[in-house]
Amino acid sequence: MERRVTPERAIEIASSYPIPRVVENVALDQSGDRVLATALSSLVDDPRFDNSAMDGFAVRLEDITEGVTLSIVGESRAGGPEPPMVGPGEACRIMTGARIPAGADSIVVVEDTNVSGSNVRINGKARPGFIRRRAENLSVGQEALPAGTLLGPAEIGLAATMGHHQVAVVKKPRIAIVSTGDELVAPGSELSPSEIYESNSYALSSLVERMGCTPVRHHAVADTLEDLKAALSSLRECDAIITSGGVSMGDFDLVRRIMEEEGDPLFWKVAMRPGGPPMFGTWEGKPLFALPGNPVSSLVVFHLLVEPWIADSLGYHEEAGPRLSRKVTVRLQEDVAGAPGKVCLRRIRIRSENGELLATTHTHQGSGNMHSMVAHNGLTLLPPDTNGKSGQIIEALWVH
Ligand code: AMP
Ligand code: MG
Repeated sequence: MERRVTPERAIEIASSYPIPRVVENVALDQSGDRVLATALSSLVDDPRFDNSAMDGFAVRLEDITEGVTLSIVGESRAGGPEPPMVGPGEACRIMTGARIPAGADSIVVVEDTNVSGSNVRINGKARPGFIRRRAENLSVGQEALPAGTLLGPAEIGLAATMGHHQVAVVKKPRIAIVSTGDELVAPGSELSPSEIYESNSYALSSLVERMGCTPVRHHAVADTLEDLKAALSSLRECDAIITSGGVSMGDFDLVRRIMEEEGDPLFWKVAMRPGGPPMFGTWEGKPLFALPGNPVSSLVVFHLLVEPWIADSLGYHEEAGPRLSRKVTVRLQEDVAGAPGKVCLRRIRIRSENGELLATTHTHQGSGNMHSMVAHNGLTLLPPDTNGKSGQIIEALWVH
């Protein structure tokens, strides 16, 4: 087991024990917010044929002078029959999306015409640019959606445009969320004087869900080896386990103990603040990420370490895949203290002003202060032994 690793090393170690990636086919209707498992290429040219971008008349550019009269040979409707050929001195009525008749090379918009009987007078310009050319957007066989893309409304629309009614997506892995601590009680229950409401499993479930996985939230486990072992071993249906709490140096930090005694820990402690004591390893062959119990720490570790692990495991596209946080550069609006020997993730509020991102801090930064994760929308990435000065540009995670 490696101790006190850098965040980069922690991600590297975790990525060598990925969450298993399974592919399933779903109807396009069912693909919303799923992640594409294999790249999608177009089954058709887009547009499929030269067509008009406007309602008007299809004409021959060389025939057009202001005030000329042309004879109307027929019409071209979207989805209609093959339009008639346009010869010298002729025009064909045309609707948006309809095929361009043979012989025509430009469009006069309807607003620039006067129809009288079977003739049309042209009062404006003929524009070749109002013809949408076959395959100008995509050609048959062209890849337009890479593997790992999160399927949102535009991606689903494009998949349909390309002719796909079914798509291969990453099967949502089941991730067990297990919080530990004798003091933890589910919200909605009565509290004794030494109990508190359990919050981490709710927040972590929500994060896991937004990363394209199915959370399986376990009720809080008491701080005894028997209870913890029974809980961890009851998770056979799950593909990976995330625990919170019980991973530091205290007498009741049993996740660490049980992993050391009966699991296979790969790293413990990461040079980061908050969130120093995470552990990663395998339990009965399943990857297990043990996060610290302090509510802020558990979320910060999730963003810095667990999020890239899930993204890597499931093959998410760096730009287009599900991500909850993005690396950005921000200009500090005040001094913020770094941490000796550790990457320091102070909570910051990021806002865009005059073309740059500005960062300010608001509430108390304690790692137990869950409210600070709501009052802020970002985390500094101050390198070890580095304080941030007001006015300085630094790297940060922008959390969505
Ligand atoms: P631990 O890492 O177990 O030592 O817990 C550190 C601190 O976080 C303690 O104050 C715990 O009461 C608190 N804590 C641990 N787990 C949770 C949880 N699931 N929800 C809310 N607070 C927690
Ligand atoms: Mg505890």
